Amino acid sequence: MLQKDPVARAAYNATYYDAHKAQRAAYNADYYVAHKEQRVAYVAAWRAANKGVDRENATARMSKWRAQHPVRSAALGAASNANRAASKYGVSGLLVADDIERLWNEQPTCHACGAEVLGIDHIVAMANGGANTPDNLQTMCPPCNAKKGTTPCS
Ligand SMILES: [Zn+2]
Repeated sequence: MLQKDPVARAAYNATYYDAHKAQRAAYNADYYVAHKEQRVAYVAAWRAANKGVDRENATARMSKWRAQHPVRSAALGAASNANRAASKYGVSGLLVADDIERLWNEQPTCHACGAEVLGIDHIVAMANGGANTPDNLQTMCPPCNAKKGTTPCS
């Protein structure tokens, strides 16, 4: 029987979902409009009842997660900073945390001083048109990076 076979059931659902896409979208849109006041009231009531709670929880959860995942957290921050700078300098490339973690696994020490720190450096500085891509990255501690500035490294 169709309903008792999970694979057949999933395939049937996927087909049904696609076949009724427009109908579902229209139904959802109608429902949204018809229940607008209820939804607004529900959200307002929830916010009033949970005032301040959610934000604190989110901040506390984030701090806890960062403490438990220092490398991932540093990689996310480094990728985010690099992507912001790439946008500022108008250079190509987009880094994700995985790119940074891979670099740190391959080159665990600072390219300049050998210290074991989590930092990245664009070999050709983005200020000089260097790409924001993994092949233009090396591990470098913040003090060495500050010293290097935008001078290309050997
Ligand atoms: Zn260094």
